[in-house]
Amino acid sequence: MITQKKCSKCGVVKPIEEFWKNKHGKDGHLNHCIICSKKYYEEHKNEINQRYKRYYDEHKNEYKQSHKQYREKHKDEIKKQKKRYREEYKDEIKQCKKQYREKHKDEIKKQAKRYHKEHRSELNQRHKQYYRTLVKKLDDIYILQRLGLKKSQTPKELIETKRLQLQIKRYMKEVTAWPLLPN
Ligand SMILES: [Zn+2]
Repeated sequence: MITQKKCSKCGVVKPIEEFWKNKHGKDGHLNHCIICSKKYYEEHKNEINQRYKRYYDEHKNEYKQSHKQYREKHKDEIKKQKKRYREEYKDEIKQCKKQYREKHKDEIKKQAKRYHKEHRSELNQRHKQYYRTLVKKLDDIYILQRLGLKKSQTPKELIETKRLQLQIKRYMKEVTAWPLLPN
């Protein structure tokens, strides 16, 4: 393995670490040293960027396609990675969200207010529907409401008993609504 080489631009012999790695280079490195490479980039920045951009535009669909394929092929891995990241940085993410909320408190409030105002009838409708399903299911929330108690202060048995009572009531109502059978 070589430890140094001569820059083909400035002609100075330099340690190999002062050349950027490049898999197309003969020895796995560029022939220009980093300083000369940077200088070249600075001098031809616009041209180089344009070339890259043009190349990207021409191959955009291929890029997108291969990116999509990659995502599909590694779906589970990506999902796991994201999950791991969320778990690892749980506190930081929480902190970040909190900071954002505090910083934009007024905006968020205003936005929520505006949203409610604009979607009032829709929200009311949805709330009514939600409540109806709670009633129909004899959900704990509804039963607690009927009892006028909070969940934390109500034993499970009481909820069950109240539910049974309401069921019986409903049943009786249904039965008395049946037409009388002829003798
Ligand atoms: Zn050089």
